[in-house]
Amino acid sequence: MGRKVERTEEEWRRELDPEQYRVLRRKGTEAPFTGRYYRTKDKGTYLCAGCGRELFASEDKFDHGCGWPSFSRPMGDLDERRDLSHGRARTEVLCPDCGGHLGHVFDDGPAPTGQRYCINSASLRFRPRE
Ligand code: FE
Repeated sequence: MGRKVERTEEEWRRELDPEQYRVLRRKGTEAPFTGRYYRTKDKGTYLCAGCGRELFASEDKFDHGCGWPSFSRPMGDLDERRDLSHGRARTEVLCPDCGGHLGHVFDDGPAPTGQRYCINSASLRFRPRE
C-alpha cells in the first residue's frame, strides 16, 4: 500500500502488546475509562504506538467525559476513512505512516475546530515534555 512503515502481521504481533495489536491492527476499541491516557493532563506529545509518528499535542486534549482521550485537532493530517460498521456512519482515523487504527472523529468538539478526535489510549504512546 506504500505506507512509510510497513510490517507483516507477524511482525506487528511481535512488536505490539496484545491490546495494541487488537486496536491498531484489528480496529478494536478499548473499553471506556480503562485506557492509560483518558485522564492524562500532562504536557507533551502523543505518538503513534505503532510507529512513533507525532499525532496529538497535549494542548489540544480535552475531557469529553466519554472515557477515551479526546483531542480537538491532530498535529498533522491523519488518514480518514468512512466507517459504516455497527450500523452507524462514522469517520475512522488512521495513522498516515503505518495505517494503524486510532479511533474516530466526530463533529461535536469544542470551538474553534468543532471536532472531537476520540482516540484509543492503546494506539498512543505519551512523550512528556520536560
Ligand atoms: Fe503509526
